[in-house]
Amino acid sequence: MRAYLDHVGIAVEDIGQALSFYRDALGLHVEAPEEVRAQHVRAHFIPAGNSALELLEATDPASPIARFLAKRGPGIHHVTLRVDDIDAALAHLKARGVRLVDEAPRPGAEGALVAFIHPAAAHGVLIELKQPARRGPTLEVKTIPFGDMQLTTLHDGPFKLDGGAMFGVVPKALWDRKAPTDDRNRIQLAMRPLLVEADWGRMIVDCGAGDKMDAKSRDIYGTDPEHGLDEALARAGQSRESIDFALATHLHFDHFGAATTRRNGALVPRFPKTRYIIRAAEWEDATHPNERNRASYLQDDFVPLQAAGVIDFFDGDRMIKPGVRVERSGGHTPQHQVVYVESGGRTAVFPSDIIPTTAHLQDPWVTGYDLFPLDSLAFKKRLIRDAIDREYLIFFEHDPHVAAGYIRERDGKRFVEPVL
Ligand SMILES: [Zn+2]
Ligand SMILES: [Zn+2]
Repeated sequence: MRAYLDHVGIAVEDIGQALSFYRDALGLHVEAPEEVRAQHVRAHFIPAGNSALELLEATDPASPIARFLAKRGPGIHHVTLRVDDIDAALAHLKARGVRLVDEAPRPGAEGALVAFIHPAAAHGVLIELKQPARRGPTLEVKTIPFGDMQLTTLHDGPFKLDGGAMFGVVPKALWDRKAPTDDRNRIQLAMRPLLVEADWGRMIVDCGAGDKMDAKSRDIYGTDPEHGLDEALARAGQSRESIDFALATHLHFDHFGAATTRRNGALVPRFPKTRYIIRAAEWEDATHPNERNRASYLQDDFVPLQAAGVIDFFDGDRMIKPGVRVERSGGHTPQHQVVYVESGGRTAVFPSDIIPTTAHLQDPWVTGYDLFPLDSLAFKKRLIRDAIDREYLIFFEHDPHVAAGYIRERDGKRFVEPVL
């Protein structure tokens, strides 16, 4: 069994006094309290590296914390170990005759599953096992009206990348709780193309990695083409045949790999009736890769489109279709572009890898893949400022759970109000 120290729970008699020590004297950051009603407990989390302290106060005399305090006084109440598979962990312990408080997992805070091991078995310490919420990403297909258009968040299944690479120079201690890593240091992501429907037709913005990956790459990137874009399109009442335009933010495999597929041994456009809209300068870069970007630009993803004569190249920032325009951000790749959808006085933005997830809201949190991180920073800074001030609806192409939302700022702290 592989386990990580998640947190140490400390029963406190007087939360005010406890905060004056942990927050004021030690100078630690205490998160907003969480009420665990079923247990009559209020929990105050204090992040500490990859783990945390949890101050526990009883909100009712019936609380287990109140009983603990009456019996033993304030102090360490439990130690929580995070496991990947709580059922397997419990089965393993049962097979060894370990005394358990919970034979089966039960729901804990934030959608996690938890189970307690009896202190008698753990040498006087109450041990909680915890399997964090949501094993995989949330992959839903949802549509909202947007002025004269309709926006649908699609998906091309789950995706995983190295956590360190996704957060660049930001230390793991700062992002680990927002984006927990698996045993291979990967974080859970998704690939979420956007479908724009307007009177001029249907456009897909990016299309995911597609179905050409071999077993080794699927394992490395945690993809699942069986439950990818085709399934999402069907759920949206669409199909490969019903897409008129495919617009690329850039040609990395996780954004435009699905543009082609294999049929009878040949590589062909995956969407048979689609014009593929590609920035000419990005095409230049993608078809002339170097040692640094070669693993991201897979020629099979886009070269066959040219042979099939289905590409419309363009240059510069411009309106692609009424209400859909692109702006070069640079940074991630020199020609990386973001897509703006404007209708009925509202603006939606598809920033692609400039703000890949809701964990990337802080300006300097730029991915390690970015070739020109200072360009990413400058563009992102302006975009997020505008997004907050002008209430842009932001699509998070790689977020594991939130497809779109509004970025808000309160007391200097940024967060996302999810919409899709
Ligand atoms: Zn990329
Ligand atoms: Zn990406």
